[in-house]
Formats: sequence, C-alpha cells, structure tokens
Amino acid sequence: MPNSLGNHAIVLGAGMAGLAAAQVLSKYFSKVTILERDVLSGDPLPRSGTPQASHAHALLAGGLRALQSLFPDFERDLLSAGAVQTCAGKEIRLERPGFDPFPSRDLGFEIFFMSRPLLESVTRRRVQENPNIEIRTRHRATEIVASADGLRVEAVRCETDEGGTIKIDAEFVVEATGRGSLTLQLLDRLGLEKPRETEIGIDQAYSTTIVERPRDPETSWTGVMVLPSAPASSRGGFLFPIEKQQWIVSIGGNHGDAPPGDMEGFLDFVKSFRTSTIYDALKSARPTAGIVRFRLPASTRRHYENLESFPAGLLTTGDALCRFNPVFGQGMSVAAREAVVLDGLLQDGVPMDQLAQQFFAAVQPTIETPWGVAQSDFVYPDTRGVRPTDFEQRMQYNIALTKLAAEDFEVHKLLAEVQHLLKPQSALREPALAKRVMALAEA
Ligand SMILES: Cc1cc2nc3c(=O)[nH]c(=O)nc-3n(C[C@H](O)[C@H](O)[C@H](O)COP(=O)(O)OP(=O)(O)OC[C@H]3O[C@@H](n4cnc5c(N)ncnc54)[C@H](O)[C@@H]3O)c2cc1C
Repeated sequence: MPNSLGNHAIVLGAGMAGLAAAQVLSKYFSKVTILERDVLSGDPLPRSGTPQASHAHALLAGGLRALQSLFPDFERDLLSAGAVQTCAGKEIRLERPGFDPFPSRDLGFEIFFMSRPLLESVTRRRVQENPNIEIRTRHRATEIVASADGLRVEAVRCETDEGGTIKIDAEFVVEATGRGSLTLQLLDRLGLEKPRETEIGIDQAYSTTIVERPRDPETSWTGVMVLPSAPASSRGGFLFPIEKQQWIVSIGGNHGDAPPGDMEGFLDFVKSFRTSTIYDALKSARPTAGIVRFRLPASTRRHYENLESFPAGLLTTGDALCRFNPVFGQGMSVAAREAVVLDGLLQDGVPMDQLAQQFFAAVQPTIETPWGVAQSDFVYPDTRGVRPTDFEQRMQYNIALTKLAAEDFEVHKLLAEVQHLLKPQSALREPALAKRVMALAEA
C-alpha cells in the first residue's frame, strides 16, 4: 500500500542504481531523500562522481524493460532526448572470432543507444517529477548511523557544501554509492561479519573518444562491436551511435594491454584489431571530444546473501553489491532490475526487519546470469580468482552454441535474449537445445 512503510527513506548516491531505488521507495515512504556528493547539472554532462560515464554505456534490453516498468513511457523520453533506437541483431554489426561479421537478423526487440549522461539525466528528470523525492546535491554521506542496540539503521551523517556535518534521520537507507564502503564500515563498527567477496581480476582498461557520425553513411550498420580474439588478444572495441549525430568509440584491453590516451596511439590500437571496420569509420571522422581513460581492476561480487546478521532498514544495490567488467555492458541493467526486485518485495509486504535478507536472496537470480557472463574472463590465463571447475566445458559449449546461433534464427534470438538479460542463462541449457549444441561440439 503506498506510503505505508514509513515517513522517510534515504538513498545514498544519484547514479542509476540510486535513482531506480528512489523511484521504488517513493511509493512506500512519505518522503525519499537522495544524498549525492556531486553537483548535478540539468544538462547531460559528465561529472566527477561517475568518471565511467564518459565511456560507451550500452543499455541492455532487460535493463530498458526494467526502467520502462519503473518509469512508464521511458522509451518515449529517451527518444525525445535524442537517443538512437535500433533493431537488435540488425543495425549494430557484430564481429567475433570466426564471424566477421556475425549474421545480421531482426531479433524482434529494440535497443536504445545514448551517452550515459543522457540516460542518467532522463532518469533523474523522471525521478524529480515525484513530489515526495528530494535530491540534495553536494551532500557527501560519511556514515550510516545505527540505533544504540545496533539492530537497525536510523540516520545518515553527511558533509554539506558549507563544510558542516549534519545528521538526517531515516527509517530506511539504501546505499547506492558505487563503492559501498559505508555499509562495510557500519558492519565493522557493529562488530558484524562483512560479506565475502568474489573477484575476477581482469585489469580492464578503456580509452574513449566521441566523433561526428556521418549523416549519409556508406555502411549498412549504425554501430559496431568488435569482440577480442581471446585468449590470444584481449583487444576489442565498441562504436555506438549516440545523441547529436555522434559515435562514441570505446576500445579496451586487459591485463596490461591498455589503449593509449592520444589520438595517434588510439588509432594505432584500433588498427591492430582483427578487422578494419572501426578504423575505417574513425580515420577521417571529426572528434567532438578528447580521449578519456578508465581502469577497472576486477569484477567484484559481495555475498550479502550469506550474512547471518545485518541491520534492519538497510540495503546496498548496484555496483555496491556487484560490479561487472564493463565490456559486457551489464551494470546499469542489473541495477535497474534490482530495483524491480525490491519493488516486488515491498508490494508483497515483506516486513522491514526481514527485507534485507529477502532482498539479498531474491536478487541472486538477477545477478547469476550476468556474473556467469563475467566469468568468461577466465579465458585469459592471467585472470585472477577461482576459475569454475567446469570452465573448459562451458567454453566449448559456448563456442558450439555460437556456431548454432549463426545458422539458426531461433537460437540466435534466444542467445541475444539471454545476453540482454531478458531470459536466464539456464534457457541456453534446455535439454532439446543442449542436445543440438553438444552434437555440434562433438562433431
Ligand atoms: C568504463 C566503464 C564502462 C561501462 N559501460 C557500461 C555499459 O556499457 N553498460 C552498463 O550497463 N554498465 C556499464 N558500466 C557499469 C556502470 O557504469 C555501473 O554498473 C553503474 O553506473 C552502477 O550504478 P551505481 O548507481 O551503482 O553507481 P554509480 O553510477 O557509480 O553511482 C554512484 C553515485 O553515488 C555518488 N556517491 C558516491 N559516494 C557518495 C557519498 N559518499 N555520498 C553521496 N553520494 C555518493 C556518486 O557521485 C554517484 O553519483 C561501465 C562501467 C565502466 C567503468
């Protein structure tokens, strides 16, 4: 029942996870306050709190569907802000080893491309339409405060622009700061066990530029994805259409093979790809932005679901819960889907003192499929972490599945639906399909 859970909830961080969580909480709390350390512009601009936002950000169809369910007519808003609508499987050329390109087919769903600042600003605008949500910018949260008995959360301390520290009371707090360190600090202070972390150490490096997109393209595609020839090389790149008739081009490598930060080096790196598609598109394109770089050491999953004790009235979500190697384009979509899971639990009337345990358990299926995708980084011998024992079999299965998908429309569609988080990974192991895949693998 709306506004039935309490007077005040606080969300820490106005990134994609925080905005989606605040939208959900606004249905159940009289007031929701988002505390954000950055200044937020009305325009879609990069900002220091989300340095990754200058790099290509794909929104998977499963993430779009989640956002559309939280913000009705979200697609319409994206389009009117300048996002580029494309037909999945058809307009973005996919190049992967053995298939340069992979067969192009209309897979029956749409994908929207835009810069991350544009996506975030559209989402933020929708959140700000709620009369009971307030975004307080330049408020850096410094501490989540628990009750004297340590059983529940009751406030947040934050530093304001004026340099002072204030304490704001709340019955419910969601940490969506990306790093998630405030929850870990609270657990430490309360003497509670911290979540175990699983890491896939990949040392992923990115370089990105933005260029003008030709109005009369000579190509049949609007964007390109070049997947690496793993394990021999981790080099790959994305060239995605974004607003204002531009392409955003992100290129990357891992385990020390970092793309350079100058245009000449950037082009040389692109030239070393298996195909010349991105190089040909880029070589005479006019840049509209300089080159920016980013490094991410590891995919990190925090196993909050295994904790025996956790303070009531607190959740973590988004990257603070699980961070993925960005090359798979999953983080924002997972964050949006986690908010939908939270909404479902609140609708079902899960009591506040059981919410955290139930939430952390209920999001596991949402995390499982993208985490399985992130585990494919174990194909590189230098990847740190615990390699799944059946990794070789999984890789062989995936190679045969890809071959089958190239031949068969239905399998191609199913594979894309799983990659877009519209279906779980288990859909690729259904007995009838598995039989065909195994026959191909053993041929
Ligand atoms: C190079 C790169 C490329 C990526 N590409 C993709 C992609 O293609 N598709 C995709 O889905 N994902 C992609 N991701 C991942 C995606 O950026 C994250 O998964 C997503 O941003 C997570 O959202 P979040 O809200 O949890 O964290 P963030 O977006 O990082 O937001 C955290 C927010 O919290 C604020 N904050 C931090 N600390 C405090 C504090 N103490 N007090 C108040 N506010 C605070 C920050 O300013 C920020 O606004 C990419 C990541 C990287 C690094």
